[in-house]
Amino acid sequence: MTDAVVAIGGNAILRRGEAATVENQMNNLRRTCVPLARMVSRGWGLTLVHGNGPQVGNILLQNELARDEVPAMPLDVCVAQSQGQMGFMLQQAMTEALHHEGIDRSVVCLITRVTVDPGDPEFRMPSKPIGPYYDKAEAERLMLQGYRMREDVARNGWRRIVPSPRPLAVLEKDAVRALTTGGHVVIAAGGGGIPMVERDGRLWGVEAVVDKDLAAYAIAKDAGDLMVFLTDVDAAFLDHGGPAQRAIGEITAEEMSRHLDEGHFAPGSMGPKVKAAVDFVDSSEKKAIITSPERLDKALESKAGTRIVF
Ligand code: ADP
Ligand code: MG
Repeated sequence: MTDAVVAIGGNAILRRGEAATVENQMNNLRRTCVPLARMVSRGWGLTLVHGNGPQVGNILLQNELARDEVPAMPLDVCVAQSQGQMGFMLQQAMTEALHHEGIDRSVVCLITRVTVDPGDPEFRMPSKPIGPYYDKAEAERLMLQGYRMREDVARNGWRRIVPSPRPLAVLEKDAVRALTTGGHVVIAAGGGGIPMVERDGRLWGVEAVVDKDLAAYAIAKDAGDLMVFLTDVDAAFLDHGGPAQRAIGEITAEEMSRHLDEGHFAPGSMGPKVKAAVDFVDSSEKKAIITSPERLDKALESKAGTRIVF
């Protein structure tokens, strides 16, 4: 079987401005799973890696609001919680879509941990804003509790900043492989995985988040035959947002890497997808696709999306 690792963007689960109800998330997931089930019917084995930005933000907010009643959970536990709740919704949507294709196959979700380097520069200079926006007084109270906060002038609020270290290894990678080899559809490394560091011969969860596109690459390298990045744009663009914006179709990893260095892909959004795609194609000599769920069928036929080839 040929195996694809599919990174599913938060926007394929919850569109900008939509309320985070189960109904809304299920409706988006159902749409996203239709072309994925078609891939399975054409013989692809699938590992799905979903984002969790808005969802883990809501879990943090729930903890914050309820902290006088129920002890607040640390961030690693919140990420695990998001893997469980989103994994379940994706499992449901994917099972339905497979049934629709006449395929009876189990969809399993793994709570997945990812090791990171405690010396990663992100632990000294965190970059990733997460969770709700706070006013100045609340932000000051949280800073006294040891949180790093950053002001977002455009949104007139303050947000918590956490490290987003580079993933080293996915601890459950062999289990992912065993399950996909056994013909199961696997959901793994949700939200980028739970970041862990090794200390005193033990593994500890840390207050950080891992980029899901980079975690997907950590799963795909040495085993995947294809990587797909599903997001809310049909393709990666050159001169994104400018008057000369143009979609990239088929391109070599070498050329794409040059565009990355030239700064065409924003850090924290398109940047990590392109970085993961280029690294995957360079190391495997296989293909990576960046597109939307709506364009996935066409992209697999090389008629849409950005296709990064060796
Ligand atoms: P996801 O949840 O799918 O990871 P992101 O918001 O992180 O979504 O990444 C997708 C976004 O990246 C697009 O909506 C777009 O605004 C932004 N983006 C930044 N640079 C580019 C680019 N060069 N081409 C296309 N999209 C880009
Ligand atoms: Mg993203």
